Amino acid sequence: MPEVTPAAPAANSEPKKYRPSRAPRTPANEEPAAERACDFRPVDTGYTKADAIAEANRCLDCKKPLCMEGCPVGVHIPQFIAQIRNEDWAGAFDTIKADNLLPSVCGRVCPQENQCEGKCILGRKGEPVAIGQLERMVGDMADELGSTPERKPSNGKKVAVVGSGPSGIACAGELARGGFDVTVFEAFFTGGGVLTYGIPEFRLPKSIVKREIDSLEQLGVHFEYNAVAGRLFTADELFDEGFEALYLAVGAGLPRFLNVPGENLPGVYCANEYLTRVNLMRAYEFPEYDTPVRHGKNVVVFGGGNVAMDAARTALRLGAEKVTLAYRRTEAEMPARRAEIHHAKEEGVEILELVSPLEFTAGEDGFVNGIRLQQMELGEPDESGRRRPVPVEGATLEIPCDVAITAIGTKANPFASPASGVEANKWGYIDTDENGRTSNPRVWAGGDIVTGAATVILAMGAGKTAARSIAETLLSE
Ligand SMILES: Cc1cc2nc3c(=O)[nH]c(=O)nc-3n(C[C@H](O)[C@H](O)[C@H](O)COP(=O)(O)OP(=O)(O)OC[C@H]3O[C@@H](n4cnc5c(N)ncnc54)[C@H](O)[C@@H]3O)c2cc1C
Repeated sequence: MPEVTPAAPAANSEPKKYRPSRAPRTPANEEPAAERACDFRPVDTGYTKADAIAEANRCLDCKKPLCMEGCPVGVHIPQFIAQIRNEDWAGAFDTIKADNLLPSVCGRVCPQENQCEGKCILGRKGEPVAIGQLERMVGDMADELGSTPERKPSNGKKVAVVGSGPSGIACAGELARGGFDVTVFEAFFTGGGVLTYGIPEFRLPKSIVKREIDSLEQLGVHFEYNAVAGRLFTADELFDEGFEALYLAVGAGLPRFLNVPGENLPGVYCANEYLTRVNLMRAYEFPEYDTPVRHGKNVVVFGGGNVAMDAARTALRLGAEKVTLAYRRTEAEMPARRAEIHHAKEEGVEILELVSPLEFTAGEDGFVNGIRLQQMELGEPDESGRRRPVPVEGATLEIPCDVAITAIGTKANPFASPASGVEANKWGYIDTDENGRTSNPRVWAGGDIVTGAATVILAMGAGKTAARSIAETLLSE
C-alpha cells in the first residue's frame, strides 16, 4: 500500500486526517457521439467544480508521487490536487502555471495515459486519478481567477524564438518571466503552431490557444507574424540587430507522400493541408466561412495515428456520409491514442484494416473517384516492435471515394539555414545536447524539429530546458 500523508487543511477548518475516497473515477462529460459528430463543438465539456473535488478526493496523496515522474515538465501534481480538494482554486492555478504555461491545452491533448496517469498507483488495480481533467478544469478558470503572470524586472537581454508552437511558447514564456526581452518570429499570420493549424476545434478550441498567446503578450513577449526565418532574415541578421541568443522551434510538419499514381488529383489531400485549411480558414464555421476545401460525402483517410483520427473526424463534421480509415496493419497496431480511436469509431468512422493504396483514379470531372488498394497481411515484427505489413500477392480491391486524405507522417520543417553553423542529421532534424544547445553556441533548438513528430508536452519540456540554459549562459556573461 502506498504511504498516505495528510493534505493541507482548508483555511478556517479544523485540521483532520485526509482519507482518500474509494469512489470510482469521475466520468468525463462527453457530448453524445451522434450529436457532436455533426458540428465542431467540444467533444468533452470538462469537469464541473463538484466533479473536480470528487476526483481530487480519490488521490492517495502518495509520499513519493510517481505521477510527477511521469510529467515531462514536472508539475507538482499532488499539491494542486490537494488545493482543488480544499477549493483553493487560485492556489491550484498558480501551482500548475509555475511549471506548465499551457494547462488548458495539456489537460485536453496530452497522452496522460502514458505520462502522469500512467504512473498513478490507483491505475495498478483500477482507474488512475483523472489528472488531465483536473489540470484542464483549473486551467480553464484563468479568466474567472483573473491572475496576471509575474515577471522579473527587465535584464535588457534580447532573445529571438523562431516558431510559435508549444515549444516556442514554453521557451518564450519562461524567458519572459525571467526578465528577458523576447521576440517570437512566426511564419503564419497567427500563433500556436500545430495547436492552431493542426489539432481540430472539437478537441482544442482556438479561443483557448488565443488566450494563452494573449497571456504571453501580457508577459511582454512580442510576436512578429508572417516572418519566415531563413527567407526574410537570417540568424546573423538577428544577431546584428542585438539578439544574443536564438531558439529554433520550427516543428516537423512537412508531409510525407505515398508516391503513387493519382496522388496529385483534385480531391486528394495530405492531412496537414486538409486540417490547416479547415482550421485556419475556418471551415469549422461553414456556411459563414466558405473555405476552399472539398466537403466529401465518401471520404477515405490513410493512416492510423492521431493525425489520421483528426482528419477522419473532421471529414465527418464537414458532412461526410461515410468515412473510412484505411490502415496497412490492423487496429491493434494503430499508433493513435486509444481514446481517439474509441471516439472516432463511436462517431461512425469505419476502419478498413490491412490495405495500402496503389493508385487514385479520377472521374470525368477530373476529381478523385476511387482508389485501388493492395491487400496486406501481417508478417514478422519490424524495428517498431509491431508486425510488419506484407503485400498479399495478386490481392487487390477497389473502393469509391470523392475525397481521400493521406496521414502517413511528417518530416522536419526546412529551416533554410536561418542559423549558420547549426548542424542537422540526414533527415533534417537539428542535433542538440540535453540542454537544447546546437553546434552554434548562440543557437538552441527543441520540440519536433529535434525529436521528430512527438507530443505537445515534450515540445514544451524542451522549450523550458532550453530557456534555462539560455538564461544561465546569457546571465553569466
Ligand atoms: C493534427 C495533429 C494532431 C496532434 N495531436 C496531438 C495531441 O493530441 N497530443 C499531443 O501531445 N500532440 C499532438 N500532436 C503533436 C504536437 O502537436 C506536436 O508534437 C507539437 O505541436 C510540436 O511542437 P513544436 O513547437 O515543436 O512545433 P509546431 O507546433 O509544429 O510549431 C512550429 C511553428 O514554427 C513555425 N515555423 C516553421 N518554420 C518557420 C520559419 N522558417 N520561420 C518562422 N516560423 C516557422 C510553424 O509555422 C509553426 O507555427 C498533433 C500533431 C498534429 C499535426
